[in-house]
Amino acid sequence: MSEREPLVGGPREPAELLLRDVRVLDPRTGLDGRHDLLVSRGRIARIAEPGSVPEEGCETIDGEGRLTALPAFFDPHVHLRTPGQEHKEDLDSGTRAAAAGGYAGVIAMPNTDPVLDSAPLLRSLRDAAAREARIPVGFLPAITRGLEGEQLTEMGELAREGALGFTDDGRPVASAGMLRKALQYQRLSGGVLALHEEDPSLSRGGAMNEGALSTALGLAGIPTVAESTFVARDAALAGFEDGRVHFQHLSCAESVVAVAAGKARGWRISAEVSPHHLLLTEEDVRGLDTRMKMHPPLTTEVDRQALIAALRDGTLDCVATDHAPHAREEKEVPFEQAPMGTTGLETAFAALYQGLVLPGLIDLATLVFRLTEGAELFGLPPARIAPDERANVALLDLDAIWVAGEHGWQSRSENCCFAGRRLQGRVLLTVAAGGVAHRDRTLAPVGSTV
Ligand SMILES: [Zn+2]
Ligand SMILES: [Zn+2]
Repeated sequence: MSEREPLVGGPREPAELLLRDVRVLDPRTGLDGRHDLLVSRGRIARIAEPGSVPEEGCETIDGEGRLTALPAFFDPHVHLRTPGQEHKEDLDSGTRAAAAGGYAGVIAMPNTDPVLDSAPLLRSLRDAAAREARIPVGFLPAITRGLEGEQLTEMGELAREGALGFTDDGRPVASAGMLRKALQYQRLSGGVLALHEEDPSLSRGGAMNEGALSTALGLAGIPTVAESTFVARDAALAGFEDGRVHFQHLSCAESVVAVAAGKARGWRISAEVSPHHLLLTEEDVRGLDTRMKMHPPLTTEVDRQALIAALRDGTLDCVATDHAPHAREEKEVPFEQAPMGTTGLETAFAALYQGLVLPGLIDLATLVFRLTEGAELFGLPPARIAPDERANVALLDLDAIWVAGEHGWQSRSENCCFAGRRLQGRVLLTVAAGGVAHRDRTLAPVGSTV
């Protein structure tokens, strides 16, 4: 694709840090044991027997065997709301939220105001991210101009300007002919086409999952086939054109079936799932809390179990939060009128650790793999804890219990579907692209200005 750095921004000062006697777990290198982990000049300098690395004047955090170092996470689907909606989020607040959640990289969606659909706007956004973002950020410009579904963007030019791929997220590419054309241009531009799957003729006007509960609550429903039929359609189009597509925020069992069938055919498709679809169901909508209103809507327990099984076996490749900030007054309206979306960056790991790992539904190494795999899917090297690698490390206390949102949020918005819940597993420190990007309030800063 481009000669340009695919991700921009992040800490400027390389970390000098000794993590003493921490459990180091990296599913890609197979590492899982107690070690000293030395970061020097922003790189992994040593992984050694606990207690064996001498302190050399750098900050030392003693894990006493209780803290865990993981490869820092990567989220291929966040809404940073800039340009145009900075009252919801911006590059600084959105990447601060990401760093607080243990993320070392995110990919921002283009449904901004104006829509990210031109090379000059991409250039100025990347320049802004280089200055303001706390962790590296990549961008997916729109597939169609203005997300209108009628005219393709200049995909080649955008790719040369640093686009990682393209998406009309927030909306589907409703016309199969338009998507086919985009897949043909993709041969020249490269990059992944990321797809928000929703047949608008089926979903129109819906506020929650269609079923007995939507009828009982008197709310217009969105049937799961609005998603799954488009997944099947677009997997087939990708196969036909030998294109590369990535399905965003899949929410139901039938979509998993469609992805599995496409993968079995050898089609170049991948898929993500969100923490809220893995952990919540339409039952959570019963109280009409607008933080439970998202797109696609929360589905049934049968769907949720299918998503968990697919995350475990790899049919669903990665976790993506679809972090979607909205201002308080926008969400404090009747359920039908509220905008769709939940924030998710600051709670993703703890919610999944508590909801999936602790009950034994998925093992920690697999979860960490899926929380980091988003990078690979967009052609970027995933974080690895290995000698000489640039340090992308999240340090966690897996025993720490905390209440989501109790001490506020790094995000500018607070519309988090997990707000107020007691969660287990807390990110204490995030090193992104070699520098300290986040330090928890409970971790006393030593000789640092973070
Ligand atoms: Zn979407
Ligand atoms: Zn989205």
